[in-house]
Amino acid sequence: MTRKTSARDRLVAGRAEFRDALLAWYRAARRPLPWRESTSAYGTVVSEFMLQQTRVATVLTYFGRWMSALPDFAALAAAPEATVLKLWEGLGYYSRARNLHRLAKSVAPAPELPRSSGGWRELPGVGPYTAAAIASIAFGEASACVDGNVVRILARLTRDGTAYRDSASASRAFSPLAQELVNPGAPGDHNQAMMELGATVCLRRRPSCLICPVRGFCAAAKAGDPEAYPRLEPRRIERRSVVRVWCERRGAVLLHRNAPGARRLADLHELPTAQQAGLDPASASTGPLVARRSRGITRFRIVESIHSARHPGGRLGPGLVWVRLGDLDSIALSGPHRRWMTQILSARNA
Ligand code: SF4
Repeated sequence: MTRKTSARDRLVAGRAEFRDALLAWYRAARRPLPWRESTSAYGTVVSEFMLQQTRVATVLTYFGRWMSALPDFAALAAAPEATVLKLWEGLGYYSRARNLHRLAKSVAPAPELPRSSGGWRELPGVGPYTAAAIASIAFGEASACVDGNVVRILARLTRDGTAYRDSASASRAFSPLAQELVNPGAPGDHNQAMMELGATVCLRRRPSCLICPVRGFCAAAKAGDPEAYPRLEPRRIERRSVVRVWCERRGAVLLHRNAPGARRLADLHELPTAQQAGLDPASASTGPLVARRSRGITRFRIVESIHSARHPGGRLGPGLVWVRLGDLDSIALSGPHRRWMTQILSARNA
């Protein structure tokens, strides 16, 4: 009995043509991003760290400033952590900045940089995607990058009907196919082409199949249902609410500085929660509402209510500091808190 040829089999059989079509399109249509223009391993590493969980448009405003201030691994390794965090401020997920700093400290004194994805995987903050991106772009290793963009493209090309628990399990499932497709003659450009295709053509909603360079290989485009892929089980969202306080005294505002060893946002300042300020959340939440903001962090939807409150005085609790309003620019605040405080202060001064 002959086995029916699957879309995956056809794709793998035609991979030489697939690679050529993808590469030709990328070389003609790619966006001129600064980290693509300079091919230094350091620039690749910095951009890949910044691009983890952050959009290209946001990274664009940070990358040039970072490269001017800290142009190579040695400069980054020698920089104080406060400088590193300040340059990162607003990009979020500060553990990336700390890991990048630690990475620079380990590679700067070494006689040479690792060249393989396996070597990069041993360094702080480098997962499989980042390792493959660095090794392929900066050192020409034929390792495939697999992220949400790549999963989306591959699921559509193959019209894969599997319902994945989450994007991590989908990435694992599509890794072997991505690896079969990677172009051994130009792995860095191939990986960047897949990322570019996912970011500009094979969009989550309304993919531009009519101008897609690999449309001829795409089972979902042929069937007319690309938006049905990839199939992911619905995510359970948990709602949380947080009461924060805005305490102001003699031109200074009360902030909470996270402990240096904290798992998240270590050393960064934030508006304190009622508990951190030593106040009862229920009574703090009856004070005048200064602002209410909602944000999503992983599977949580968090509503943060900021209420005006008076600090009872006396000794400040752990991590609490009074910061003069005029000094806010010189301290490291977490990105959302800087944005909220700027909005609150400008609304007040309007
Ligand atoms: S043809 Fe459409 S669905 Fe298929 S890879 Fe291209 S953009 Fe995505």
